[in-house]
Amino acid sequence: MKTARRLEQFPEYVHARLAKEITAVEKASGRKVLNLGVGSPDIPPSEKYLGKFTALLREKDAHLYPGYGGTKEFKDAIREWYKKRFGVELEQDEVLVLLGAKDGIAHLPFALADAGDEILVPDPGYPAFSGSALLAGATPVPYTSADEIEQKTTKKTAFIWVNFPSNPTGAVATREELEKLVAFAKKHSVPIAYDNAYSEITFDGYVAPSILEIEGAKDICVELGSFSKTFSFAGYRMGWMVGNKEIVTALAKVKSQTDSGMSLPLQRLGAFALTNQDMEWHKNMIATYQKRRDIIAEKLKKLDLTFEIPKGSLYLWAKIPDSARDSESYCMALLKEKNVLFTPGSAFGVNGGRHVRVSICVDVSDINSYL
Ligand code: PLP
Repeated sequence: MKTARRLEQFPEYVHARLAKEITAVEKASGRKVLNLGVGSPDIPPSEKYLGKFTALLREKDAHLYPGYGGTKEFKDAIREWYKKRFGVELEQDEVLVLLGAKDGIAHLPFALADAGDEILVPDPGYPAFSGSALLAGATPVPYTSADEIEQKTTKKTAFIWVNFPSNPTGAVATREELEKLVAFAKKHSVPIAYDNAYSEITFDGYVAPSILEIEGAKDICVELGSFSKTFSFAGYRMGWMVGNKEIVTALAKVKSQTDSGMSLPLQRLGAFALTNQDMEWHKNMIATYQKRRDIIAEKLKKLDLTFEIPKGSLYLWAKIPDSARDSESYCMALLKEKNVLFTPGSAFGVNGGRHVRVSICVDVSDINSYL
């Protein structure tokens, strides 16, 4: 069977490959693997939302096509939340509902880039940034720092992905850094797509900013948000893009060809969740993640890994010992010897080759029997 040539650019998805390794190791050892590779929030959503959701499913029009772009009610709830959380005012046409932030990541290159254009992507970074560029026939250009963004921006640059708190590194951005980025983007008329999927997953009192807080950012920036981490709704596929009107309109046009909107029960759930945020549940979720982060950090130190304690995201990003050959062989050896899986940093780009990503989305109450 002939499949499209563009697919030849993609190796087997890393988590699919690792799942096979886990099965093999569990079979050989007869023991369950402690899988610290996955990034799927495991903490169940607040009961407050689950009860509401089941009622919403029974509403008379729940099964109907929902229309494109998002209901007014849902978009208003997103606007209100932005005002409350970031002090950012948004108009109706500056908001687009997404089927998860990844929906925006997958389709934005089709809205902003032509074949042969370049898209700057963080490296190490979330693999979908470069994957979606490739699907659209654009060239992902990896960067490691703000300085490299400046060096690597050319006439061919269609736009720049920026992601803080970062997957996989857990790095966060200061307002000053965002100010500099916005100034650079404006000077060169190159849009920034800011992925703020982890804005509400922060620790030690750190509060993540929105890039739209920066004066004039809306002239050149959009921002992605997600319900996956904030509300543990990952499987419901709910998110948004907000900011520059032209970019919002362009992405809506692409999406009108690829999906038929978010189901009404989910939009109503989203509106309800944003306007009735269960802050007690959220506080407990953050406390759980933070406790796990600290427990895992102690274990990583014992393994001679070097890292900084992350202020945000759901991961620790650690450098492997000099004696290790590379991240892939380090992870495979750990899996075989200890029945513990970390994600090889190489899955996040060429600059991840000497790191591992360790997820805190996993119950680690029995970690002492592994490490
Ligand atoms: N952006 C980043 C940086 C992520 O790490 C992830 C998921 O892991 C996503 C976006 C996807 O979010 P969503 O579940 O809303 O599609």
